[in-house]
Amino acid sequence: MELNYERGGEQKAIYSNSDVIFTNCPLCEKDEYEQIYIERGALGIVRCKKCSLIYVNPRLKNPEHVYWGDAQKYFKEARLIFEGKALHHRDKNYEEDLKLIFKYKPSGKFLDVGTNMGFFLKSAKNWNVWDLCGVEPSPSLSDMARKYFQLNIRTSFLEEAEFEDESFDVITLTDVFEHISDPGKMLRDIRRIMKQDGVLFIKVPNGLFNLFKLNMAKRMGKLKDYDLFDSYEHVVHYSHKTLVKILEKNGFRTLDVTIGRPIQLPVWHKYVGHFYLYPSPLCLDFKRQIGRSLLYHFSKIEFYLKWKEIGALAPNIITIASKSP
Ligand SMILES: [Zn+2]
Repeated sequence: MELNYERGGEQKAIYSNSDVIFTNCPLCEKDEYEQIYIERGALGIVRCKKCSLIYVNPRLKNPEHVYWGDAQKYFKEARLIFEGKALHHRDKNYEEDLKLIFKYKPSGKFLDVGTNMGFFLKSAKNWNVWDLCGVEPSPSLSDMARKYFQLNIRTSFLEEAEFEDESFDVITLTDVFEHISDPGKMLRDIRRIMKQDGVLFIKVPNGLFNLFKLNMAKRMGKLKDYDLFDSYEHVVHYSHKTLVKILEKNGFRTLDVTIGRPIQLPVWHKYVGHFYLYPSPLCLDFKRQIGRSLLYHFSKIEFYLKWKEIGALAPNIITIASKSP
């Protein structure tokens, strides 16, 4: 597979054995797994035989470095959004997320972990109800969030950010937790800085949906065209069960689980040779956009048929959790 268009970030089309390391299961820490698939030459998608977690093994040594890209390139991806002239393709998703957070915590200190360029916090700022801050390890991305959206962002990994104990009412991981190679450690760090009655919001892609897409691609003989697991950056693929399990193991109780609308990825790069973050119109990508919407509606039916367990058709999993007593 060729990356034949330009975008910010450091991802490679093919990785070799020197780019990767083997790891134990991030949930149960065992080292017994079955292989499901291999992406980009050297990244293994595996399932733990003990706890069923799907994770990437071997994975990139530093998957977060994919976000250490050049600020100029990132700026080019999103210039019109920074200038207030275009929407971000995830804005509708963010509004849906913020509605749910507001239902549980309509005010207070709000920390977004893995802020990227600040698009989620920019949406939260429009609500005018929370005291917002973010933490983002990428120097170029966090600079842009400060510069263009005037957000309060610390350039740091969460574990090194030195936030005070029990200081936040809301902590969010929006499309971030799947990037974290030691998720248990991150949850324990979050538990320390979250107030006793605080809430944790997590949104991740649904690992079972990726398996479903893999099986469909195999049946249709289209396997080579797909980068199904985005395993150069997504190192864990949670299901409803494994997400609840890792939360419980690290001192959280799930209050709510739901399915978010699908993210309609833009396809500008196919037409203009450059990746842009603005929504692309339905006519440029109608098959996929309609397909994603249909599956989303089916996944809601599946959810109720399975007594509120998220199945294989859901594009993502959203949870709200509190500290367990
Ligand atoms: Zn395991």
